[in-house]
Amino acid sequence: MTVLVVGGGITGLASAYALGRAGVPTVLLDAAPRLGGKVRTESVDGFVVEHGPDSFVSYRPAGLQLCRELGLGDAIIRPQEPRTVFVRAGGRFIRFPDGMGLVLPTKFRPFLTSELFSPLEKLRMGLDLVLPRDGTEGDVAVGPFLRRRLGRALVDRLAGPLIGGVYGTPIDELSLDAVVPQLRESERLHRSLLLASLSDARARARSSRASSDGGPPAVAPSPFVTLAGGTQQLVDALVEAIRSMPSVEIRQDTTADSLEIDGRGATLRIRGGEQLRGEAAILAAPAPVTAALLESSASEASRHLRAIPHGTTAVVNLAYRDAQLPDELAGHGFLVARNEPLMISACTLSSRKWAGRAPDGTLLVRAFIGATHASAHGETDEALMARAHADVAGALGIRGLPILTRISRFPGAMPHYTVGHLGRVAAAEASLARFPALRLAGGAYRGVGLPDCIGQGRAAADAVAALLSLGAAREAPGPAAMETRAAPAAEPTHRSAAPRFALDAVPVGRNATVVSIEAGHDGDLAMEGLAPGMTVTIAARTPLGGPLVVGVGRARIAVARSVAAQIAVELVEDATGKVPR
Ligand SMILES: Cc1cc2nc3c(=O)[nH]c(=O)nc-3n(C[C@H](O)[C@H](O)[C@H](O)COP(=O)(O)OP(=O)(O)OC[C@H]3O[C@@H](n4cnc5c(N)ncnc54)[C@H](O)[C@@H]3O)c2cc1C
Repeated sequence: MTVLVVGGGITGLASAYALGRAGVPTVLLDAAPRLGGKVRTESVDGFVVEHGPDSFVSYRPAGLQLCRELGLGDAIIRPQEPRTVFVRAGGRFIRFPDGMGLVLPTKFRPFLTSELFSPLEKLRMGLDLVLPRDGTEGDVAVGPFLRRRLGRALVDRLAGPLIGGVYGTPIDELSLDAVVPQLRESERLHRSLLLASLSDARARARSSRASSDGGPPAVAPSPFVTLAGGTQQLVDALVEAIRSMPSVEIRQDTTADSLEIDGRGATLRIRGGEQLRGEAAILAAPAPVTAALLESSASEASRHLRAIPHGTTAVVNLAYRDAQLPDELAGHGFLVARNEPLMISACTLSSRKWAGRAPDGTLLVRAFIGATHASAHGETDEALMARAHADVAGALGIRGLPILTRISRFPGAMPHYTVGHLGRVAAAEASLARFPALRLAGGAYRGVGLPDCIGQGRAAADAVAALLSLGAAREAPGPAAMETRAAPAAEPTHRSAAPRFALDAVPVGRNATVVSIEAGHDGDLAMEGLAPGMTVTIAARTPLGGPLVVGVGRARIAVARSVAAQIAVELVEDATGKVPR
């Protein structure tokens, strides 16, 4: 029994980690020589350069939870104060109003006094208080929805740069249902989005006053967090944890070319001719790659996946000496309003936002070039870096050339959640429903953020582990070896000596010799016939963290996972004289 995980970005790694913890034999393969996919941090000359994501939200728990599980709790950092952000509009910087919840005010006063909108534009927004609900059924684009309720200015100067920027997609194409379904819900419940936002904020303030025993209201912490060593620290910890798991094999530089599905599992054809056989597969490569893999065996799913558009984006990191900066440089960065004569769509002052990102006396910034400047993506790296520097330096008043430049390009790699996105994902999943052990996971489907990807990866792993465990409970467990045909060089690497594991980590079908049992459980288990020195078989794992079914001679006993974690074992060599991985 083997699960094939295709793609070693954060999604595939999260899947492999969850499968490894459940002791499910797994092969994770990635086409690239390095793991992590879009997550990549480079440490150079004291700078911590983020090539892809630089942080993630804490209100979706999967990201923080995984960091803590991996022992990275102490490395979690939040943005430095003050957290001021600007909008570049009309050739000047205007402070982002305080108390904004996504794109709607949660406090009236800062919004009313903000210079971001003229009095006439604020009056137009006030129309939202009286406008009727939009009766449109089905998904619509975020831009027109917000424009109808609150006017053009809010979309051009706030919602477009903010939400469109995060998704790298023009706001007039972004799906309301996939990206901000809460806005539709607010309209349905309260009719006015402004009233809904203010009433939510009042409810939150009441509950935080109640929990702070009447003390002064605390300043809400930033919803963003990252790791002291950059987002790559999470990938490194994850890879290290997976490599220590006996049931998981990682194969880099291994490109999946096609996937054949049959009633008993899937056969993956690897570039070079080798084939891997698995009883289940988690497809965590980018959607266009997954569409190509499924082309011949699940053409309908492949067609739905191809209908998810992907765009190009680029990130330019630039560093300057403090002596090059103007005196009054402030804040964490700026968003660029629509129609500004800049190529970049946003700029983060990374070393002002996060501690430890640049050596003393220097500034690290990163600028984004999104989908709206399509022609820029045809330029050379040098030309694009020079234009990004010209935009950043020109807007901020920085003198001279950068002391460090880095560019990362993501051609056709950013999934665009356009109108109808959730329908396309559901259609792809529905056409794969006859293969329940085949799962899609990743940034192209149900959330692009790192916590969304981690959550999808783990959910896919839990689903296939549960399915396999049910199957294993029904069938006599055979050797869990994956069929590997052709190319002998690709055979899993075998260990020369039997390492010691917790019984909990031993794959189904494997034999293991009990080395020791933690005091407190030894007596009970001895009564059931399990003692050090005995050879046992993992017969099955019940789903959802239920007990292991352990074969002791001809008997079967149930051992709770928490107890199994306290039983040390050594894997028994297989018929070839090798310890299976
Ligand atoms: C510039 C940028 C900034 C971002 N900023 C943030 C941010 O600040 N916060 C946040 O939460 N999110 C951010 N994101 C989004 C987030 O980084 C991604 O959604 C997430 O990393 C996607 O992970 P994934 O594992 O689904 O896909 P990927 O990271 O794309 O991984 C897919 C993997 O599949 C492999 N692969 C491809 N083809 C094959 C094949 N044929 N066979 C085997 N393997 C294959 C690839 O090598 C890759 O490793 C950002 C994204 C970008 C591009």
